[in-house]
Amino acid sequence: MRTRINIGFILIALTLPLFSSSTNARLNCQTNAQVLAPAHIPAPQEILGFVPGEDRKLASWSQVIHYFEELDKASDRVNFETLGNSTMGQPFVMATISAPENLARLDEYKKIQELLADPRKLGPPGVRDRKASELIKRGKTIVLITCGIHSTEVGSYLSSMLIAHRLASSNEPEIQNILQNTIVLLVPSLNPDGVDIVKNWYDKTLGTPYEGTDPPELYHKYTGHDNNRDWYAFTQVETQITVDKIHNVWHPQIVHDIHQQGEYGARLFLPPYMPPVEPNVPKQIVAGYTELGNYMAREMRAAGFTGLTTNSTYDAWTPARAYSHYHGGVRILSETASCKIATPITVKFAELKKDEGYDPKKESATYGPLWHGGEWHLRDITNYMTTAAFLLLRHASNNRREWLSRFYEIGKEAVRPRKQGELWGFLLPGAPATRGFPSYYSLRATLEQGGTEVIQTKQGLLIEMSQPYGSFAKTLMQRQIYPDLRDASGHPVSPYDVTAHSLTLLYNVEAKPLYAPINYQRVPSIWLGGLFGCSHGYGDIALYKSHVPSMDEGWTRWLWHETELPSSDNAKENLHCGKRSSLDDAEARAGNLRTKYSSIVIPDQLPPTIRDGYKAGEMPPEYTGGLGQAGVKALREFVEQGGTLVCLNRASSFAIEQFKLPLRDVVAKVSEKEFFVPGSILRIELDTTSPIARGMPKESIAWVEDSPVFEVIPESRRSAGELSAENVRVIARYPADKNPLLSGWLLGENRIRGKAALVEVTLGKGRIILFGFRPQYRGQSLATYPLFFNAISNGN
Ligand SMILES: [Zn+2]
Repeated sequence: MRTRINIGFILIALTLPLFSSSTNARLNCQTNAQVLAPAHIPAPQEILGFVPGEDRKLASWSQVIHYFEELDKASDRVNFETLGNSTMGQPFVMATISAPENLARLDEYKKIQELLADPRKLGPPGVRDRKASELIKRGKTIVLITCGIHSTEVGSYLSSMLIAHRLASSNEPEIQNILQNTIVLLVPSLNPDGVDIVKNWYDKTLGTPYEGTDPPELYHKYTGHDNNRDWYAFTQVETQITVDKIHNVWHPQIVHDIHQQGEYGARLFLPPYMPPVEPNVPKQIVAGYTELGNYMAREMRAAGFTGLTTNSTYDAWTPARAYSHYHGGVRILSETASCKIATPITVKFAELKKDEGYDPKKESATYGPLWHGGEWHLRDITNYMTTAAFLLLRHASNNRREWLSRFYEIGKEAVRPRKQGELWGFLLPGAPATRGFPSYYSLRATLEQGGTEVIQTKQGLLIEMSQPYGSFAKTLMQRQIYPDLRDASGHPVSPYDVTAHSLTLLYNVEAKPLYAPINYQRVPSIWLGGLFGCSHGYGDIALYKSHVPSMDEGWTRWLWHETELPSSDNAKENLHCGKRSSLDDAEARAGNLRTKYSSIVIPDQLPPTIRDGYKAGEMPPEYTGGLGQAGVKALREFVEQGGTLVCLNRASSFAIEQFKLPLRDVVAKVSEKEFFVPGSILRIELDTTSPIARGMPKESIAWVEDSPVFEVIPESRRSAGELSAENVRVIARYPADKNPLLSGWLLGENRIRGKAALVEVTLGKGRIILFGFRPQYRGQSLATYPLFFNAISNGN
């Protein structure tokens, strides 16, 4: 059974077939091959008019699809299918590439994968090893190659056509070996919408001073670059399709995720990842990505490639980027240096910059041989990418048995009965209110989408550790303790991304760890309704949208769309949801905002970016300039005339500065050595008598990342023009008597104890609400959604 809950809708029991018929293997091309003469295998340039990787040439998404369709028609090694639709309605596609005799038996290979992934299905423990070794003899290494999740990193979706063409057309023994021993699942883009967003912008600016700039909008409608942070919360349709129709069907042993990094570092990163490794990642996974990454790097160096780094920059701390690490497969991230989209650049050796774990000017254990600088073309990028991909495939085919054995060992360890004193499972006690906040069900749906077995018992929901993907559940139910990593000078080493992913905290669901088996009685699953979002009535709301794309803006817009009720439901429930619009700089500067809106939200963004936007000369003139003084004046009038201005995270600092609010950020000028919280979950205490905290418990969480921490400035220290402290109401504080850290990493906790995390400031007839955290963080912090919705509601 598959379930997916949209927050904000009345939740109902959903029973959908696990796989849709569209995932069935298509055998047309085999049939054709039997009756027709061997077809000419088209090369990408025959469809595109250029060889992928040529300077200044990008393919549109329809051209990519057209190419794969032609390949499917011509080759008996390629099955091409549409798995679903992207956020903006484009086909989300995959090519399955293998020897024709393998393609004819895909269901059999899927079955082998299913059994090895879950050794319980092989029968009683005594017979499993013998049965498994039979399957390992017959099975194939399943390799998933994913391209283009980050759409400005154009090399990979272009390389996907080069990779597919070689696999489909070559009769070299090496390629035959790959086709016989592996099944390659090739996703030309994990973000089809972004292909055209980037191509359209690139083509529009080609030959202008703005050639090679990034588009002035998110390349994924809601998430931008954060689309690669969604691999455990599964909020976006692209993630859902990939997980439901590829990962959970095929359980690939190897996932090759092809990316690009900045222009001035290493030419290529390959695993192993730098520390830390998240403790629930199986040791076989670490061994697997270390062996394979080192193999690829060694072979590339032997072939003359320079500027390679391993064991640096990217860590393995989170399921957010690595679904496979919790599902039996290694993730081989590759990060090739970028040019300016498709425009070549010249990099001088002196311009190369250090990154975490290596210096591109010095040979070391993590870097080498030196790349001496020079021109860097899209062709260099596709050469690094395709070479790496074929080395990965060579390893996958030459070590087929080892990959399958390792995969089985991971499954075997996962399902072994837990010993006395080991973590046995988690209990989510009780049943939630029948109408109310749907966290409990959302957590269940998320865990089940990630392949976790959740049992409904009389005592609550039970998750046993002894199951194939118990480690996935465990990492989401535990608190993260991020290691206190420092460099030689005692400076904290920045994690690659954030440090916490405790969904139980983010969703506000209690999870009791169990260290011994419990007796329980299964009861039928109950799916109850929870109405969320538009329940108090809203006026018309505007979300500020800078031309400099803000992922937090995208996530906020996603949350709005997710919580919009169909209009017939509105009528039935007699609610007023109001209009939700975007507010750009030009409209803001024009003023008269109060006549149009009751609330305006400024999402998380750096204050100078909100104020100034793109500078003149950086982008075409229509995209330059931010809110500016005119926008600030208009927003002040909006509030004075009775509007509500809601500022999220760093936008709060913008408001403090521009409106001279009687607040200061106590961590603004503190060094990272003294205070550091690189994306963690902290504890807050709420004044629940405030309408903004309506429906909230007295204690909750805050997602803290580059966040201001507020202190009310006493009268004596106030400068001229600042409001009085009487205008400020503190809604949430960090606890004074205990460490605020709940999950992740926090240095210098004493600096924020007792300080404010959420305040309301009255100004004229209106108010400004300042969040010192992200209440709607990446569509995950359900626990604090009510604070956000209460803040923008007009019922206060
Ligand atoms: Zn990337």
